[in-house]
Amino acid sequence: MEKAKTGKTSLQKRSRKITAVAVVVSVILLAGGSLIHVLLQDILESTTDSRIRMAAAEYKSNLLRLVENDIQILQTLESFWEERDIVDEEELAGKLREVTEKNDFPGMAYFGKDVGILIAAGKENETGVSYETLPEPMQEALARAGEGETAISDIYDSENMGREIFVVCVPVTVDGELRGVLAAADLASRVGELFSEQFIPNGYSYVHLIGNDGMFRVRSRESSIPEDMEDIFSSPNLTDRVKESIRAVMEEEESGMFMFRRGNTRYKLFLEPVGLNGWYLLCVNPLKEVVGSIYWIITGTQAVFILILAFCLLVIVSGFRLLRNNNRQLIQAAYVDPLTESCNLPGFTKKMEEACGRNEEFSVAVLNIYQFKFINEIFGRQQADQLLRYIGGLLGKELAPEEFYGRATGDFFYLFLMSTDRREIEERIHKIMRRIKDAPFLQRSSYHILFYCGVTGTQGQERNGDLSSRMMTQVMFALDKAGETHQDNVWFYDIQLHEKEKRENYIESHMHQALENGEFRLYLQPKINLKDGSLAGAEALVRWITDEGKMMFPNDFIPLFEKNGFCTRLDMYVMECACRHIHHWMECGIRPVPISVNQSRLLFYEADYPERLKELVDRYEIPAGLITLEILEGLAIGNVEEMNERISLLQKAGFRISMDDFGAGYSSLNVMGALKIDELKLDRAFLMEVSQGNNLRQKAVMEMVIALTRRLRIATVAEGVETKEDEALIRELGCDAGQGYYYSRPVSAEEFDGRFIGAGL
Ligand code: C2E
Ligand code: MG
Ligand code: MG
Repeated sequence: MEKAKTGKTSLQKRSRKITAVAVVVSVILLAGGSLIHVLLQDILESTTDSRIRMAAAEYKSNLLRLVENDIQILQTLESFWEERDIVDEEELAGKLREVTEKNDFPGMAYFGKDVGILIAAGKENETGVSYETLPEPMQEALARAGEGETAISDIYDSENMGREIFVVCVPVTVDGELRGVLAAADLASRVGELFSEQFIPNGYSYVHLIGNDGMFRVRSRESSIPEDMEDIFSSPNLTDRVKESIRAVMEEEESGMFMFRRGNTRYKLFLEPVGLNGWYLLCVNPLKEVVGSIYWIITGTQAVFILILAFCLLVIVSGFRLLRNNNRQLIQAAYVDPLTESCNLPGFTKKMEEACGRNEEFSVAVLNIYQFKFINEIFGRQQADQLLRYIGGLLGKELAPEEFYGRATGDFFYLFLMSTDRREIEERIHKIMRRIKDAPFLQRSSYHILFYCGVTGTQGQERNGDLSSRMMTQVMFALDKAGETHQDNVWFYDIQLHEKEKRENYIESHMHQALENGEFRLYLQPKINLKDGSLAGAEALVRWITDEGKMMFPNDFIPLFEKNGFCTRLDMYVMECACRHIHHWMECGIRPVPISVNQSRLLFYEADYPERLKELVDRYEIPAGLITLEILEGLAIGNVEEMNERISLLQKAGFRISMDDFGAGYSSLNVMGALKIDELKLDRAFLMEVSQGNNLRQKAVMEMVIALTRRLRIATVAEGVETKEDEALIRELGCDAGQGYYYSRPVSAEEFDGRFIGAGL
């Protein structure tokens, strides 16, 4: 399970790593691609802009040159006045006709004080023309020239000439005195011709002349701007923002570059102030035509790059998808039992952990078949698998929607049940067991299938991080217990019982080492002579002090040692400790007191027991009479004779025999009377009843027992003397000795020596 978990985590880690790499690569590719795209776009734009600006500058200078040329012709003519004041209208008209024809002007004019001459190509000279009859743009230019400056009219449709023209006017001054205004008309079409020249290498530029009102003055012949569009502000392709910016640029008489779209084509719009009449050169060009082949190179590069990028992304995305699916399949495989298609153990544990996280109350059960291996053997693997699938299917039907099950290896079915009620769970599991037995495959054979099931619930459990794994361990313990009986069995895990078992397990697995390490220590409790209060002897009581310093009492381990037989070894060990201690007293020149040593049933009946005891006392050179063997009354039940034989054998060897715990159970005066013991130890319970409850009947029994022992020459020791009153009572009853906390608790042999044997040791 752990392995699967690790496998899954490593898969997830790998998947995360791959995702991260894919994301990083994609981001780098996208960032790189965007950067290159932006750079290429920038190159394209700046190349376009600079070409348009350059072309616009050329157009502008050509236009200015055209106007300048007209002005120069007029200024040359004006210089005649300096030489000679021309006053004769006829002469002046002739002169103007001459200049008109020579320079291909569509017409010329002179207006002075009382003089108004109009010359039009292919028409009669007109003299005496009145200023007011002239078209408005011409009037306005003449008026400006009349102020003494060179002026150019706006372009207008001349009725007289039947063409679109503009008029260039220069003032005529003689000796600083204004005499009149000389004007020459020029064709707007000549400007148009200028605009048809191309200044962009390998590309096209379309230029127009517009006024600062946005109205078209001269249109490029090549341009695709529709004829009916009178001003640029009425263009549906320009956004309001662009129009707004154009207005702002025109207000400041600055140049400006704009971008707009028509259909799928991107256009550049450039405005360059001409510096005359508020005219602007308007260059409108489709981007790709301005830069010609460069556009295609750049867009081609971009397209190729986008294709490569798209391909890379496609490879990354599909590779990533493939890997993710792979991982998903692997994770699925890590969590699904292929046989039943339910969870496998890691899958079940995972779901259970999620339930623990939700703080739900639930139970986990493990259902198992008795001796499943025989089903495999008798019916064959295929049939056995069929049975497992049948069980899986049945569990799927029997469990509630929020419940689930999983199968670990073999016939281990894990059930997650949303209940902690023992009776309900037991009933449900027994029902499941019955229904499995109805399986057609089992019905056909005479094989009697049996189940056992362990259960543990969340009730009373500590809710910490390891609840799930703890419950999985507990449920296996419960399953083991359930498997101890040979019937359909459901066993619930019991925390207290388990603690006891755990302790016993610790004891059993450590006892041998503990004996070798000397962890079992000799403790002594004094027996006090009730006649004179002197020390009558001591009882050896063993203590287990573990290597961690924890003290364990005999009741924790003696019953277990009696079951597993270790008691015989321990008793001999304690016996040896007692012998060694008496030897030690004797060596120190102290008068030794007898030590009583508790003997277990098993040891007492061991064949070589008397010899081994004898060998011990001999080895330590102590009189056997200093050792009292405390045996239990129960030993004699049913075999008083055999017991008496053993007793007399031991007595012959010199040992004293004491019967322990008399009155604790169903003690029998008969048995006591029949056994040839030397001492009788009245159990603590005896004394407790007589002293506490004023139980006169018990007191009478006790008196009788003591009287009987006296007659049989058996000494009596009362156990559990805890108070002065207890002591007074047992003295009154005629006991010989007393033992209990009133005198001392069992203490280590060293402490005992210090307190009871004398400071001489
Ligand atoms: P036991 O032989 O009847 O020992 C007397 C028990 O009563 C001791 O408990 C002692 O500590 C306790 N006790 C003595 N005076 C008083 C008192 O005034 N009040 C109370 N409440 N208790 C008193 P311990 O040492 O826990 O031993 C329990 C039992 O374990 C012994 O009962 C004996 O049957 C057995 N045991 C002790 N050591 C050994 C051993 O080395 N071998 C075997 N086989 N059994 C032993
Ligand atoms: Mg005892
Ligand atoms: Mg006792």
